Amino acid sequence: MKHITLVLITLLFINCKEVTKAQSSESAVKVSEVETIMNFLASDELEGRDTGSEGLKKAAEYIEKTFKDAGVMVSPYFDTYLPAFDAKGKETYNVVGYLKGTDPNLADEFVVIGAHFDHIGKGKEVDGDTIANGANDNAAGSTAVISLAKQFAKTKNNKRSVLFVLFGAEEIGLLGSKHLAKVLKEKNLNLYTMINFEMIGVPLVDKPYKAYITGYEMSNMAEKMNEYAGKELIGFLPKAKEFQLFRRSDNFPFHKEFNVPCQTICTFDFSNYDYYHHVDDEVANINLEFMTELINDCVPVITKILNTNTREIKLN
Ligand SMILES: [Zn+2]
Repeated sequence: MKHITLVLITLLFINCKEVTKAQSSESAVKVSEVETIMNFLASDELEGRDTGSEGLKKAAEYIEKTFKDAGVMVSPYFDTYLPAFDAKGKETYNVVGYLKGTDPNLADEFVVIGAHFDHIGKGKEVDGDTIANGANDNAAGSTAVISLAKQFAKTKNNKRSVLFVLFGAEEIGLLGSKHLAKVLKEKNLNLYTMINFEMIGVPLVDKPYKAYITGYEMSNMAEKMNEYAGKELIGFLPKAKEFQLFRRSDNFPFHKEFNVPCQTICTFDFSNYDYYHHVDDEVANINLEFMTELINDCVPVITKILNTNTREIKLN
């Protein structure tokens, strides 16, 4: 009897595991998709995605096509996926995709999910290589945003509306996010919150959480994210505060314009990656499995943010 019970429990356990596995593989972002996007954005062909370059334009057009193919729409704020702007005399782009909220009462509230997709172009030569591919900075964050856009276009599980944004001209002064935040403010965007992804390609070392958030103490964002994730996903990195990272990424212009929680998720801790703005910031040095896990962990979190009846994330 004891033995049979054990066998039954074991069978049941195996069965449950199989079901969970089947469900997650059906809904989840796959390592192979992440790898494909990373390989393109960080390829030598794009020559480091410098503002005003042909490579940057190719990246923008690739993201536009990916959005179009996935059923991510052109936003009601622009008549194109690629609203252009002037960055220090050069024409460049933000990429903006849109999914309309499914609930008539919540569809006018927006969440912005963003990452910059530009980089610095050429870097200091190492062994004949001069292309700064910007795999971690910030093909990684861009890949998260693109993958999340594809995922939500598939599940259509968003009562609130969402803008998926890839910012241009970050590296020369957060110009894309400054421009877009200003334009959207003028157009009276009803913004609930903005979540930005920056340098998420390598895991933190010896931390109980998977990523940190900038401006940790400014809102209950991290607390709510962990509640929504059902685990300790997001933490506080003292160095992020010391170096004022909150003000140094594309979340900041949105915070300034809208005065709502706008924060950046990041895993670069100043000691876990040697290739910041270096020609060896390449896909070979990225942990794609880790990245994919983090993106998948963000799916239920963002789902909850897009669906709660009230705005639970608040400034402190
Ligand atoms: Zn960056």
